[in-house]
Amino acid sequence: MAGLRIDVLTLFPEIFHGFLGASLLRRAVSRGIVTLNFCDWRAYAADPHGSVDDLPYGGGPGMVLSPGPIFAAVEALGAAEPSEGTRRVLLSPQGKLLTQDLLERLARADRLVLLCGRYEGFDERIRLGLGFEEISIGDYVLAGGEIPAMVIIEGVVRLLPGALGASESVEEESFHRGSGPSALGGLLEYPQYTRPAVFRGMAVPEVLLSGDHAKIARWRREEAVRRTRERRPDILERLKREGGDT
Ligand code: SAM
Repeated sequence: MAGLRIDVLTLFPEIFHGFLGASLLRRAVSRGIVTLNFCDWRAYAADPHGSVDDLPYGGGPGMVLSPGPIFAAVEALGAAEPSEGTRRVLLSPQGKLLTQDLLERLARADRLVLLCGRYEGFDERIRLGLGFEEISIGDYVLAGGEIPAMVIIEGVVRLLPGALGASESVEEESFHRGSGPSALGGLLEYPQYTRPAVFRGMAVPEVLLSGDHAKIARWRREEAVRRTRERRPDILERLKREGGDT
């Protein structure tokens, strides 16, 4: 099976260097699980200065990303039209909020194209003319789409078969719906402990030392519900509405 291809359109590909050189990403790339391609669309600017932005019509602060170079770069990547298996994403604080469900859907694609904005953002005709889906990583504004793109890349790649280490799993994690016997059905994860059994007077719950797997599974489930009720009652409400058995 061919790996996932990710094209990142960015004016600052160097921001990704350290990210790609470490741990999960480096391993996934070396195993052929994912292929990353960076496109600096400044190369598609029409003038010799490499201009990619201009003043906003109507006045106002900052600079707006011009449509010409971005359209040319997207066309050169063969991503100007929707195509099966490809998810084309424009990073924007105005997009739909990124969730674990959305990451899981993105991870089923053959190809992701991630368009990172900068400055005041995109000329509206980039949104209208290219029709990318718009994704936000949260209700706050960053200086550029590079960190949001890294969030998507890391979130997606760790879901790909073979990307995690042998002892790691996404099955029992927070937010993951899953279908396996240990999946938490969208709840927050239960508390985790490792050695020592007592640290500065704080002891690991007895049940985790009992060796009784059924009892441990029950305790974890109860703790996941309790923790979700305390910290994210909105999630419990949503799961109830959707017919879960939490
Ligand atoms: N003027 C825009 C607005 O008010 O909606 C914000 C532009 S922001 C300074 C520049 C770029 O950073 C955006 O085009 C987008 O690509 C990226 N960006 C900033 N915050 C983001 C977020 N929460 N999620 C996704 N992308 C974001």
